[in-house]
Parts: sequence; C-alpha cells; structure tokens
Amino acid sequence: MAITVVGSVAYDSIETPAGRKDRCLGGAATYFSLAASFFTDVRVIAVVGEAVFNARHIDTRGIEHAPGKSFFWEGSYLENLNEAKTRITDLNVFASFEPKIPEAYRDSEFLFLANIDPVLQRRVRESMPDVKLVAGDTMNYWIKDHRPALLQVLKGLDILLINDTEARMLAGNNNLVQAARGVLALGPQTLIVKHGEYGATAFFSSHSFDPKGETADHAFRAPALPLEEVVDPTGAGDSFAGGFFGYLASQPELTPAVFRRAMFYGSVMGSYACERFGTERLQQLSRKEIDDRFIVFRELTHLD
Ligand code: AMP
Repeated sequence: MAITVVGSVAYDSIETPAGRKDRCLGGAATYFSLAASFFTDVRVIAVVGEAVFNARHIDTRGIEHAPGKSFFWEGSYLENLNEAKTRITDLNVFASFEPKIPEAYRDSEFLFLANIDPVLQRRVRESMPDVKLVAGDTMNYWIKDHRPALLQVLKGLDILLINDTEARMLAGNNNLVQAARGVLALGPQTLIVKHGEYGATAFFSSHSFDPKGETADHAFRAPALPLEEVVDPTGAGDSFAGGFFGYLASQPELTPAVFRRAMFYGSVMGSYACERFGTERLQQLSRKEIDDRFIVFRELTHLD
C-alpha cells in the first residue's frame, strides 16, 4: 500500500566528531522516503529551489520546483551525538509553499507528515481525508514557536514519532512516562519516543490501533544497534520513521506483532543512516542488508 509523505527536502551542512560535510542532500521527507521505499511505494510532497531528488522508486511528481533557494539546515553533533544542535534553519522556498496533492497520490492509504511547518502538515492532512493511517513527526523548532498550529495537527494523528527532549518539551514534564501520557492526551493514539543510540519506546493509549487492547497498558521498546562508529546521526529519526511506517504499509494487517516488528525495521534503517554522512548509506543499501540486520537485532534482544 502506498504512502504519501509531506516534509522537508533540504540541503544540510553537518558537523560531527567524524568530520564536516557541506550542502549534502537532506531533509526529513528525503530520509523518510529513502528508508520507506525499501518496503512499499512512496510519494513525496515538497518544494525545492533546485533539482535535488534522484533516487530509487520514489514518486516525485508532488515535488514542486520554485524560484529561490531550497530549505537549508546546518546542525552540529559535536556536543551530543544523540541530538543535533541547530545552527541555521533557512526555510527559503518552504516559507511560501502551498502543497498540492497530485491526482496520482489520492489513493494512498498511508500518510506521513514528516517534520515541517505544522500549517503545511495540517493542510495536507485535510486534503487527504480518506487515508487509513496517519503518522507524523515534529521538532523543538515547531514545538517552541508554532504550538497552536502543532496542537491542531496532533489531534488528527494516529501515531506521533518524536525524540525524548521533544516529548518532555511538548508535555512540559521531565518524567518520560508522565510526558508520554501528557502527549497522548493531546490527540495521537500511539506515541513513539526515539532515544537515539538507546532505541525507541512506543506508548499506547486505551484507544490505540490494537482492537484486543493487548498493548494498552504497557509500553514496548525496540533497541538501537550498538555501532562501532556513528559517522552522522542526521536523519536517523526520519529513517526510523521510514522503516517503521514503510513496513506497516507493506503488511496486509496491522496487528500488535506487526507493529512490534515495524519498530525493529525502523531501528534497522536508523542504524544504517548513521554509518555515513547524509543519505549516502541509504542510497547504497540493499533489501538483503536490511533483512540481515533485522536478524542481528533479534539476536541482540531475544532470549531463545
Ligand atoms: P533527524 O535527524 O531525523 O531528526 O532529521 C534531520 C533532518 O531534518 C535534516 O535533514 C534537516 O534538513 C531536517 N530539518 C532540520 N530542521 C528542520 C525543520 N525545522 N523543519 C523541517 N525539517 C528540518
């Protein structure tokens, strides 16, 4: 089943302990699409100033080309490899972007609202009322200064994926479990909190997707793979989201077991994203490598 995604397509300049890379292809929708495209069909909605997208079987008819500069982001991981410190965010062509949904995207059953202005996320959500499952992401930039618009988006989400700091900031609570409860009260039925090198935890509300209510009372955690070297964590969260949502969309039915396996596929894609700067590793990846690493994840966590 196809996924439509709206989010940033960007040029990134990144500094990590492994070095610096200027103006590489990035953006939340870019990482998401590359990761999800190993599992299912992906259709992107975004705007770029110059042609940047040239990859895999991703439908780019919803990428508008506008005069001006593409979204530009500069971040550093010199202080903390688990969380980027943003140095520059230049929205550029995204500042005046009016998303249009191509006719060919309208039968998508899955919608992912990747990190971008919540006003744009909401417009796309409202233009696709018939989708079966909606997930989304955001970040401190939008939580701090665009809260009212973001709260509107949260009301329409089945699954929200954010990191620890964002969950605590959104709920105004430093305890992760209490913060998760606070975020779920804002609308999403399921919350996935990403912990960088420590994995990701899903929290479920009593009206989560699971019809038997098996998952409602307790959280589920997938680990991250301990890596010998983290070259560049940029996009690991978006790649997690792409692997997670891509796997869900590739399955005939959404059950608790499928949900848990999707968390592991998300972790697999996040781990690969960290191995090279920018999108380089995802662009070279094969489905076999993904499945091999899934087995490594099983061995990391299973008792028998
Ligand atoms: P992640 O490391 O998975 O959280 O995502 C990193 C990507 O998010 C980078 O490629 C950036 O281009 C993109 N990004 C950074 N800040 C923003 C923002 N305010 N809105 C949308 N995308 C952003």
